[in-house]
Amino acid sequence: MTAIKLALSIEQIPTTELRGGVVPGTKLKFGEIFTDRMFIMRFTPQTGWTEAAIKKYGNLSLSPAAVVLHYAQEIFEGLKAYIRVDGSVGLFRARDNFERMNASAERMCLPKLDIDFTLDALRQLVTLEKNWIPQETGASLYIRPTMIGVDPYVGLRSAEEVLFYIILSPVGMYYADGFKPIKIMVEEQYVRAVRGGLGAAKTGANYAASLYPSVQAAKKGFAQVLWLDGVAQRYIEEVGSMNLFFCYGNKLVTSKLNGSILQGITRDSIIKIAKLWNIEVEERQVDINELVKDLASGKVTEVFGSGTAAVVSPVGLLQYKGTDYKVAQGEVGELTLKFYNYLTGIQYGKEKDPFGWTEIVC
Ligand SMILES: *Cc1c(COP(=O)(O)O)cnc(C)c1O
Repeated sequence: MTAIKLALSIEQIPTTELRGGVVPGTKLKFGEIFTDRMFIMRFTPQTGWTEAAIKKYGNLSLSPAAVVLHYAQEIFEGLKAYIRVDGSVGLFRARDNFERMNASAERMCLPKLDIDFTLDALRQLVTLEKNWIPQETGASLYIRPTMIGVDPYVGLRSAEEVLFYIILSPVGMYYADGFKPIKIMVEEQYVRAVRGGLGAAKTGANYAASLYPSVQAAKKGFAQVLWLDGVAQRYIEEVGSMNLFFCYGNKLVTSKLNGSILQGITRDSIIKIAKLWNIEVEERQVDINELVKDLASGKVTEVFGSGTAAVVSPVGLLQYKGTDYKVAQGEVGELTLKFYNYLTGIQYGKEKDPFGWTEIVC
């Protein structure tokens, strides 16, 4: 590959074409509106990454034969920018997201990013779009880096031509009606990922596998599906787009990273905070039969999910084989709330950050 120095161009957009920010009074849901600008670049085997630009947000032009549309050669990331209490704009563990994206790229035969270059492009994009970051408590700018294979070829092979882009979406507090425990259903029939499959990669293909069971569960009133492992259908993997934690009093238990679970950055943050607080953390196989026994006996005192979108999500009820197991009397547990407050406190600059996770962008 010829080493052409990658340079970022910033398109001048006439101010009349810019919306400039969220229309005041808009009730922000998750991921519905997008800002004025996006970052995009292209990869070819001849040039490497090229044509890096921040330009006006808009539709892509793709061949209907593009590989991604037929064989799902796609990866993505999810992270957030925040208006901090002092008015500055912060990013949370952004480098970790791009490192994970490169790990997903490896598994999906997509090219690796130059992390320093991409991070710098993200900082410039977020700075230009600063006015789009909502200020209300718990609100943020959700950042969605995406990579797709675009070769116009329906014969099956890995793409050579690839697009990478970053789009931004202002989002309100995940729990618009307050911090409420969710109901989850343990999925007995379908699986999300199998041993040796794509589970550890952040790719749309995993979500495609999850849609049908999630729709069925939603019809029964469950917010999320809890996935069991794809081999024995007995060990707990994760929930929707969250990793899961079980509190046994002052001890935390979470499924170990076995190759079919997504390595959540929020999961890692919870584990590191727990260690700081001298809370014991066990990363191990968690048998669903053992878990429901411990829920019924009250040994498991709290259950919560961890993921960028909701940060920490209390679980109030878990259903397995038609039996409902209540968690923490259906209330938000004390430890769950403590993790939520501390982690969001670091993100918004209300708490000191002893881990070096936050970065001020502008
Ligand atoms: C993104 C994601 C998570 C959560 O990861 P975070 O880095 O904490 O946001 C968990 N599970 C799946 C399947 C995911 O796609």
